[in-house]
Amino acid sequence: MWTQGKVVKRTDWTADLFSLFIEADIGDFTAGQFVKLGLDIKDKRIGRAYSLVNHPDEDLLEVLLIRVDDGLLSPALHRLQPGDPIHMSTKASGFMTLDYVPPSRDLWLMATGTAIGPFISMLRTHAVWQQFEHVVLVYGVRYTQELAYNGLLTELTQQHRSQFSFLSSVTRESSADALTCRIPEALETGLLEQQAQREICPQHSHVMLCGNPAMISETQALLEQRGLRKNLKRKPGHISMERYW
Ligand SMILES: Cc1cc2nc3c(=O)[nH]c(=O)nc-3n(C[C@H](O)[C@H](O)[C@H](O)COP(=O)(O)OP(=O)(O)OC[C@H]3O[C@@H](n4cnc5c(N)ncnc54)[C@H](O)[C@@H]3O)c2cc1C
Repeated sequence: MWTQGKVVKRTDWTADLFSLFIEADIGDFTAGQFVKLGLDIKDKRIGRAYSLVNHPDEDLLEVLLIRVDDGLLSPALHRLQPGDPIHMSTKASGFMTLDYVPPSRDLWLMATGTAIGPFISMLRTHAVWQQFEHVVLVYGVRYTQELAYNGLLTELTQQHRSQFSFLSSVTRESSADALTCRIPEALETGLLEQQAQREICPQHSHVMLCGNPAMISETQALLEQRGLRKNLKRKPGHISMERYW
């Protein structure tokens, strides 16, 4: 089911990476969930999933997108300007939310690229700071300029100094403030835990993985070697995930 919304504003982070702010009536959602955005292209409705980035109480719905070369929908979304109409699913969906996470001391959020979006939404809620003693965010991109929401993340680091660790990883150029290897490699070599000054273990950690499917599979395999299990509704575990393709 679709509802018609309207683009109200946009932020361009790079030539291809952008956020859209949309007015649409979709009812309540939980941080971590996604909607479908749709446009009619050559008389056919093309819809794809996009995670919501805003706090659930905010009126404007916010999504972070990348224009995929040769993609069917994302180049058309990239052309949208304030005032343009856009279709959106009438409801948000998805289970990568905090209410499905069993009690745990530490929350590890690991994202590549645009998959930082659902974690930004979670970090904007009070619940995440009440539910966990410590939160570690690991954000992997190719180039430094692709680190969207950097200002907000710096603010959160200052606000939650003793409760929040933010680690970025930039793989295609050297950066003084970031790790320079992919997330699975940083986990395997112990660099992530060294930087966050915490250990990942089944007793104390819940890990959420989002974005690039190769990062997710490799990281999941490494976590399973340490005894962490996939979190399922019928069998609670330690790893929640959402693959973007
Ligand atoms: C649950 C879920 C949530 C998602 N949330 C987001 C989001 O918040 N922001 C977002 O930009 N995309 C998100 N995606 C991906 C999005 O749905 C589309 O697949 C993407 O925009 C490409 O659509 P397209 O029609 O342009 O490309 P298509 O013609 O469908 O081509 C798909 C190809 O694009 C590439 N691709 C898809 N998504 C990405 C990406 N995010 N980064 C780099 N390459 C990609 C892959 O190579 C994939 O095989 C999400 C997907 C899922 C399943």
